[in-house]
Amino acid sequence: MAYKVNLHITQKCNYACKYCFAHFDNNNDLSLDQWKHIIDNLKNSGIVDAINFAGGEPVLHKDFPAIVSYAYNQGFRLSLITNGSLMLNPNLMPPELFKRVDTLGISVDSINPQTLIALGACNKSQEVLTFDKLTQLIALALSVNPNIRIKLNTVITKLNEKEDLTIIGKQLNIARWKFLRMKLFIHNNFNNSPLLSNQGEFDNFVARHTKVSRDVVPENDLTRSYIMIDNQGQLLDDETENYNVVGSLLTEDFTKVFARYSFDESTYASRYAS
Ligand code: SF4
Repeated sequence: MAYKVNLHITQKCNYACKYCFAHFDNNNDLSLDQWKHIIDNLKNSGIVDAINFAGGEPVLHKDFPAIVSYAYNQGFRLSLITNGSLMLNPNLMPPELFKRVDTLGISVDSINPQTLIALGACNKSQEVLTFDKLTQLIALALSVNPNIRIKLNTVITKLNEKEDLTIIGKQLNIARWKFLRMKLFIHNNFNNSPLLSNQGEFDNFVARHTKVSRDVVPENDLTRSYIMIDNQGQLLDDETENYNVVGSLLTEDFTKVFARYSFDESTYASRYAS
């Protein structure tokens, strides 16, 4: 099996979501050359064919366009997870870059500004990704790359568990919509447990939205089925509520580091089956 690896190239983000699990131990970004080395490492492993860029907010890495272009030229299938708020800024996201990306994943937890602000899904001026901005972003991406797949990620927490987002599925051109039950995460002074929805509320949310999208994917637990490289180029193990470092792709071959990771192959296979 060939794998998709998630490169969390930066921890920097203009939002401060209260459930965010992108809390790493070092806020300094690696350089372009270091990311090239990691991408070469993945290529040389022969077992990785896709890269997903994540963060933080990935466009905030100062070399984001160059990192994406390098990975594209190495022949990887590329996707991107973004909060969407900066993607209409051509200095951060040159529109031509949409042509290099197969799937654009946008985090959308609510269309109610008050809920987004309560979640921390806003910048320091409390600006949120409105339904209009989301619509504009999807239109821009599709105008540059008509083949790009638009995927939404919605994390279900106590703050949005009752919300009805079906208008998104009815009005926007969404290829895939993932509903993720918030993962408990405790790291240093960070603890998202007050936001944890119970299983019944998660199931109700998913049931409410199943009819409006052809490909709704509920995900209850990502543990050990997500290949996560942090902003320092380290493979992380997420088995507990915190992270453990398995090894660094700057100093060791990916295959050797990956062999030490107790990866849940069958959950991974079922996640990517479709
Ligand atoms: S937008 Fe994503 S990276 Fe930024 S704070 Fe929210 S969850 Fe974390």
